[in-house]
Amino acid sequence: MMKDIATPIRTKAILEKYGFSFKKSLGQNFLIEPNVLTRIVDHAEVTEETGVIEIGPGIGALTEQLARRAKKVVAFEIDQRLLPILNETLSPYPNVKVIHQDVLEADLKTAIEENFHDCKEIMVVANLPYYVTTPIIMKLLEEKIPLKGIVVMLQKEVADRIAASPSSKDYGSLSIAVQYYTEAKTVMTVPKTVFVPQPNVDSAIIRLLVREKPQVEVDNEDFFFQIVRASFAQRRKTLLNNLVHFLPNGKERKAFIEETLAEIKIDGKRRGETLSIEEFALLSNTLTK
Ligand code: SAM
Repeated sequence: MMKDIATPIRTKAILEKYGFSFKKSLGQNFLIEPNVLTRIVDHAEVTEETGVIEIGPGIGALTEQLARRAKKVVAFEIDQRLLPILNETLSPYPNVKVIHQDVLEADLKTAIEENFHDCKEIMVVANLPYYVTTPIIMKLLEEKIPLKGIVVMLQKEVADRIAASPSSKDYGSLSIAVQYYTEAKTVMTVPKTVFVPQPNVDSAIIRLLVREKPQVEVDNEDFFFQIVRASFAQRRKTLLNNLVHFLPNGKERKAFIEETLAEIKIDGKRRGETLSIEEFALLSNTLTK
C-alpha cells in the first residue's frame, strides 16, 4: 500500500518540495488526517462501480482515497499551481482525471457523459472551498445532473442551516432549497485540527441523497422559491407582511394573498420560519392558480 498523502509529515514534504503557499482566497485548507478522509469515503459509500466528481483536490489527499475505491474520479481544481503537484501525487492512480477549471463554470453534464458511461452511479465527494460552498451545492442540485448524492465537508454553520427543521433558528431558504431536492443529514462534526492551515470555523460532513422526485409537487419552481425567499426576507416580520413587501407585485396583490392564506388555512400572522416545505408548496401552488 502506498503511503498516504494526508499525513502531516508527507503533506509538509510535498508543499516544501514545490514551494507551495496557501491562498486563503481560494479556501485552501488541506486535510492531514487519514481517518477523516476514510470516514468521508465511507459515508459516500463509494464502490468500484461509482464515478466520483471531486471539487478542489488540493494536493490529492481525498482524491487518493477515492481513487482506491471508486471506478473513476474526475476532479476540478481552479489553482494552476496545484497541477504539477497532483500530476506527481496521483501518478499511481490511472483512474483519476484532473480538470483545471473553476467548478462553477464547468459543464458537468458533458463531463459526466464523457467520463462515467461505464459507472453505475455518480457521487460528488469533496472537502469544499468554504468561500463558495452554497453556490457549488446549488449548482449541483439545480442543474439536475444524474447524481446519487453529495457527501462534502463544509462549515458546520452551513451544514446546520442545510439540515435544519422548521421553527429552528437555522431554518431558512437554504434548508428548503436543499431539502426540496435531497434528504439531508449531517453525519459528523470535525475539529479544526485536522486541517492545514486551520480554518477559523468548525466543520462538518454532510450527506445529501438526491430524491427520485422533489419532496413536494410544485407547479412553478421559480415562483415557489420566490415565495420561500420572500417569506424569510425579514425573519421578525409576519408571513403576510413579508409576502406583501417582497413578492413581485405583492402590494397590489395584498387582498388576494390574504384570501389565499385564509383559503388554505395558513395564518398570515405566523413567521415564515414556522412553515413546512409542504405548506410552502401549497401556498405557491394556490397563489399561481
Ligand atoms: N481536497 C483537498 C483536501 O481535502 O485536502 C483540498 C480541499 S481545500 C478545502 C479546497 C480546494 O478547492 C483547494 O484546492 C482550492 O484551490 C480549490 N478550489 C477553490 N475554489 C475552487 C473552484 N471554484 N473550483 C474548483 N476548485 C476550487
